[in-house]
Amino acid sequence: MRLSEQNFDIVVLGGGSAGYAAAIRAIELGLTAVVIEKDKLGGTCLHRGCIPTKALLHAAEVAEVSKDAAKYGIKTAFEGIDMNAVSAYREGIVSSKWKGLQGLLKARGIPVVEGEGRLVAANTVQVGDDRYVGKNVVLATGSYSKSLPGLEIGGRVITSEQALELDFVPRKVAVLGGGVIGVEFASVWRSFGAEVTIIEALPHLVPNEEESISKQLERAFRKRGIDFSLGVRFQSVTQNDQGVVVTLENGQTYEAELLLVAVGRGPVTQNLGYEEVGVTLDRGFVPTNERLETNVPGVYAVGDIVPGLQLAHRSYQQGIFVAEEIAGLNPIIVEDVNIPKITYCEPEIASVGYTEARAAEKFGADQVSAYDYNLAGNGKSSILGTSGSIKVVRVNDGPIVGVHIIAGRAGELIAEAQLAVNWEAYPEDIAPFIHAHPTQGEAFGEAVLKLAGKPLHAI
Ligand SMILES: Cc1cc2nc3c(=O)[nH]c(=O)nc-3n(C[C@H](O)[C@H](O)[C@H](O)COP(=O)(O)OP(=O)(O)OC[C@H]3O[C@@H](n4cnc5c(N)ncnc54)[C@H](O)[C@@H]3O)c2cc1C
Repeated sequence: MRLSEQNFDIVVLGGGSAGYAAAIRAIELGLTAVVIEKDKLGGTCLHRGCIPTKALLHAAEVAEVSKDAAKYGIKTAFEGIDMNAVSAYREGIVSSKWKGLQGLLKARGIPVVEGEGRLVAANTVQVGDDRYVGKNVVLATGSYSKSLPGLEIGGRVITSEQALELDFVPRKVAVLGGGVIGVEFASVWRSFGAEVTIIEALPHLVPNEEESISKQLERAFRKRGIDFSLGVRFQSVTQNDQGVVVTLENGQTYEAELLLVAVGRGPVTQNLGYEEVGVTLDRGFVPTNERLETNVPGVYAVGDIVPGLQLAHRSYQQGIFVAEEIAGLNPIIVEDVNIPKITYCEPEIASVGYTEARAAEKFGADQVSAYDYNLAGNGKSSILGTSGSIKVVRVNDGPIVGVHIIAGRAGELIAEAQLAVNWEAYPEDIAPFIHAHPTQGEAFGEAVLKLAGKPLHAI
C-alpha cells in the first residue's frame, strides 16, 4: 500500500470550535494548516450544542411571552407548541450557520479533509491512506455525552443529542443533573408545557455558581412549577412502553415519559492513537502545560479534551492561542476562572471570576467586599417583567474579581463584566463612565458606583 503524504505547519485533528479557530488564526498568521473532520465542520457547538439549544430556548421564551401577553395589554392566545415548526426553525439556524462556516474556511483557503483521523506519529495524522504531516499537531477531538456507571442510554433514557431531536413535547420528563445542560432543557420543556423534575446529587442546582444565585434559580424554578430533588443520588432507572421509573438512593421514585441524562461530557480521546504516540491522558482528558502543549513536544490540545470548563468560547480562545503560540507571538493566558459562563435557562445566569466565598479564600476574608444589587431597582428589567440580582465582588482598594448575575437576558450583561475582570478594573475606574438609560447594563453601573463609594440608586 502506498501512502500519500502532505506537509503543513499545523495539522488540526477535529473541526469543532477549537479546531477550526486554530486553523483560521494560523492562516491569518501566514502559516499553512489543514483541518481533519469526520463529521460536520462546527462540531458539537454548532450541530448538537450551543446553537440548537439556544434556538429551542428562544422558542421557549416566545411561548412564555405569548402566554403572558395580557400582562402587557396585548390580546393573544397561546394555542400550543408545533414541534415540527420549532425543529424547522432550529434546523434552519444551524444549517445557515454551517453554510457560513464552510464558506469562511473556504474563503481563507483552509483545506478540510473529510474522514476519521488517527495520530500515527507525533507529527502525523492518518486518514485512510493519506498522511498529513505537521510541524505541529493540534488535537481537538471534543467531547461526548457521558452517563453514569450502569446507566444505559437507549429507548426512553436519552442524552441531549436525542432531546434536541424530539418531535413531540413530553408530558412528563425527569432530568438527571442540575448543571447547565440539565437546567436549560428543564426550562425549555416547562415553557413548552411539560411537567419537569430535576434530580441533582449536590445540594444546589447549577452547583458551580455563586450559592445565592443557585438559591434564586431554585426559587424561580419553583415558581415556574419546575420540581427538583437536591442532595440525593440517583440509584437506578427502569423503562417500559409507558415510561420510566427513576429511583434515588433514598428510595424516592419518579415516574416520567423520558429521562434526560445530563451528567457531564467526557473527552473523545480513545482509540485515536494518542497514547500510542506517547501523549499522556488523565481519565481520558489530555493534560497540557499552561501554553496548551501536551507532554509530547509539538503536540498541542485544545477545547473540551483539555481539563477544565467545556465551553465553545474557551475552545475558540484556545484555538487562537495555540496558533499564536506556534507562530511565536507569546499570547496571554486566560485562566478558566476568568472565562464568562452563561446558563440560558429562564431566568438566565451569567458569571465571571471568583464567587464571594472563593475570593475570600484567595485574597483573605477581610480583603474582599461584595455588593448585591437587586434588579427590582432597574427600570428596564421591570419593563421586561424580570427580576434578579447582580453581585460584584472586589478586592478592597483593588480590582473587581467576580460578577454574578441572574435575570431574564442576564447573558448579555456579562460582556462588560468579563472585560472589567480581565482588565483588572477597579470600581473607581469604571464609576466615572456612563451606562445608557434605561438598560439592564445600568445595574452593573449601580453596583460599581456603590463599591466605589458613590451609590446613586443603590441603598
Ligand atoms: C447541549 C449542549 C449545549 C451547549 N451549550 C453551550 C453554550 O451555550 N455555550 C458554550 O460556550 N458551550 C456550550 N456547549 C459546549 C460546547 O458545545 C463545547 O464546549 C464545544 O463544542 C467544544 O468544542 P471542541 O472543538 O473542543 O469540540 P467539538 O465541538 O466536540 O468538536 C470536535 C470535533 O472533532 C471531530 N472528531 C472527533 N474525533 C475525530 C477523528 N478521529 N477524526 C476527525 N474528526 C474527529 C468531531 O466530529 C467534532 O466535530 C454545549 C454543549 C452541549 C452538548
